[in-house]
Amino acid sequence: MALRVLMVLRVLILGGTSEASGLARRLEGDARFATTLSFAGRTRSPVLPSIPSRVGGFGGAEGLAAWLRDERVAALVDATHPFAARISANAVTAAAAAGVDLLGISRPAWQARPGDDWTEFADLAGARDALGEMPRRVFLAIGRNELAGFAGTPHDYVVRSVDPPAPGAAPGGAVFIAARGPFALDDEIALLRAHRIELLVCKNSGGSAAAAKLAACRELRIPVLMVARPAIPPRDEVADDAAAFDWLLARHDAALRGV
Ligand code: NAP
Repeated sequence: MALRVLMVLRVLILGGTSEASGLARRLEGDARFATTLSFAGRTRSPVLPSIPSRVGGFGGAEGLAAWLRDERVAALVDATHPFAARISANAVTAAAAAGVDLLGISRPAWQARPGDDWTEFADLAGARDALGEMPRRVFLAIGRNELAGFAGTPHDYVVRSVDPPAPGAAPGGAVFIAARGPFALDDEIALLRAHRIELLVCKNSGGSAAAAKLAACRELRIPVLMVARPAIPPRDEVADDAAAFDWLLARHDAALRGV
């Protein structure tokens, strides 16, 4: 009778995105992997997977490296949001320090299409300054954590995020819409019309869940102030959770062969 060797690869996923949840779903119940999904703790009611999870920062790159060592992690998947630059840089440093294989999941950035009227900015402050002095009606689709920079500007804002902004965090008079994607094109067009939006400010997050607002702006000829992604140190990357799962299978195979 052939002897079946069971090798369990210990995996940490840095999450907070649909890709992280998708990879967690692929790994749940798979005896080849012992996986933990990590959340920063920003969302009040995260959609929790049925694999073990943890919440909260590690204490910088050193703290993350210590966690990787203590938990004997063999593979780290950074599936954080493209704008979560600090944790992604920490992951590169910590993985090197702890001798752990690292893979980033980086969904492709959105590209302007014919009919789009986009202006790209290196950061949110640049987009805010470009709104100018004349009051405009602005859809601010940037999440809830970086709204403070728009306070004191003369514009009327519609803000949309999963959880409401902290008291005083949103610009005065802003209309708040609580919603979690995916969003449909017809609903986005209706929203832009209902609030008589003149400009959209958003981050180039990529992915399908939040892309309909861009198609809606194209349709209604609304200009978009698009904030480009922050730089992340070089690392191995794939575009989605299916490819990340294949990478983990290859790591598991290599570990089994003792490579
Ligand atoms: P960030 O600026 O890169 O990270 C700030 C700190 O938060 C990190 O240094 C780390 O603390 C902690 N942290 C971040 N992600 C973590 C994770 N998955 N598990 C444990 N600790 C984590 O990140 P951020 O922009 O604040 O994003 C925080 C979370 O929200 C991430 O999970 C990200 O995927 C998600 N998210 C971000 C955006 C966005 O636009 N930035 C949008 C959607 C979702 P320590 O240094 O103490 O380890």
